[in-house]
Amino acid sequence: MKTLKSSLIILGSVGLLFLGACGKADQTSDTNTTPPPPPAASQPASSAPATTSAAKGANGGQVVNSGAYHLEFVPEKEATGTHLDLYLQKGDKKEPVPDAKVTAQVQLQNGKQQTLALKYDPEGKHYAVVFPGKEPGQYPVKVNADINGEKVDGRFTFTQ
Ligand SMILES: [Zn+2]
Repeated sequence: MKTLKSSLIILGSVGLLFLGACGKADQTSDTNTTPPPPPAASQPASSAPATTSAAKGANGGQVVNSGAYHLEFVPEKEATGTHLDLYLQKGDKKEPVPDAKVTAQVQLQNGKQQTLALKYDPEGKHYAVVFPGKEPGQYPVKVNADINGEKVDGRFTFTQ
């Protein structure tokens, strides 16, 4: 009887050891198979399609963000027509982009389009042109900027 008892004790211990080992093994395999945490929620993609924001830009104009670029359109009524300003800026720091080819396609009241080339004004850090039309109304404008072959555009309107 004595030997049987000790055998049971030994079996019990082995069982405990086995359970312990098992637990350890499970833990290890758990860490190994746990998938890495998902990447942090993606930030608003900078490559999102261009969207017109109702918010006013830093210069009080209409804002369109296209990729890394920030376009702000500021029309100003003048005696001879409408002075069109376009601020073309890059990145979060909104650095002015001085070396782009910028044109504005203005849709006229008769349905025709007039393309105007905007010139960079280094002092004002924006592109500008005077639209000579005097007919009152709403003018949709599509601004195209070519930054060393990279093309961005934005749609705006101004009232003459
Ligand atoms: Zn200007």
